[in-house]
Amino acid sequence: SKKRDGKNGAQFYDPQLQDHTRQRAEIEHDIEEGLAQGWFDAFFQPIVQVETGRVVGYEALMRLVHPEHGIMPPAPLIAVAEETGAITRLGGQILEKALANLARLSDASGNHDAYLAVNFSPLQFDPSLPVRLAALTTEYGIAPKRIVIEITEATLLHDNPQIRTILDEFNRYGYRLALDDFGTGYSSLSYLNRFPVDIVKIDQSFIRALADENPELRHKSRMLVEGITAISHKMECTVVAEGIETEEQRRILADFGVDYGQGYFFARPQAVATLIDESRMPQTRSLKVSAR
Ligand code: C2E
Ligand code: MG
Ligand code: MG
Ligand code: MG
Repeated sequence: SKKRDGKNGAQFYDPQLQDHTRQRAEIEHDIEEGLAQGWFDAFFQPIVQVETGRVVGYEALMRLVHPEHGIMPPAPLIAVAEETGAITRLGGQILEKALANLARLSDASGNHDAYLAVNFSPLQFDPSLPVRLAALTTEYGIAPKRIVIEITEATLLHDNPQIRTILDEFNRYGYRLALDDFGTGYSSLSYLNRFPVDIVKIDQSFIRALADENPELRHKSRMLVEGITAISHKMECTVVAEGIETEEQRRILADFGVDYGQGYFFARPQAVATLIDESRMPQTRSLKVSAR
């Protein structure tokens, strides 16, 4: 039998490590099987006008719809896919699903204006990405200005010339660029200066703190959100608040002039078939904020 002590033995028997390794192997397996069986889907979360609740767009969010484990959240899948390199294939499948879903939803609802935001990991920024995206928008008859590329500050961190070239190409095609999780990176403001950003998405940690029980934190977060909104508007960017869960948060954001928002208060990410059903029966369910 194997030694339980000594350098290698101790590591091998570390129950936490073994657990982690097994879990990772399971995720790797789920990714490969999900890709082969077509279990990945792009759920859509509505993005609305904060003031009125009117839907202006959707964010595509990856879901693995597993026949046994149910709907799996994306974060662990993406982390592992980035490590193994599967993110390229995974991202390609999600992009195709997202555009096909947008085309179906637009046809069913008659709304051909709503935009679609798609998340990209830095590792998906392959030089062939813009032309592949262009082929898809042409195939599905989607106007390029309806597509928003969502990246986080991590993608811009090293000012990689290859990434800049890809962003410029997106820009030439007419796709828009959103900076996701804004305010959580290293030099958030400098990215507004150096890259062609159209949309700033204020990270949900700031939105959560707007109504925090600690009055000092509450005050400071409000000043930050108001300030980020003013700066973004001066830079001619549209502002989207993420993770709005309460009417109080919605009202504060509306008072600050935040343009758009998304969050459980308005709607959760949903299968597009559900959104299509709702669009056929608009009177059965409406957003909690009525038009003013
Ligand atoms: P994200 O792009 O910042 O997306 C917003 C996340 O907030 C989503 O989590 C969404 O479900 C969640 N959310 C929305 N409203 C609320 C709310 O009111 N309260 C709370 N607590 N959460 C809310 P999700 O779907 O688990 O995705 C997590 C992250 O995974 C995303 O963050 C994005 O970074 C990444 N991701 C998702 N789909 C894709 C994809 O297709 N490709 C890539 N590369 N990354 C993706
Ligand atoms: Mg996003
Ligand atoms: Mg975000
Ligand atoms: Mg995020």
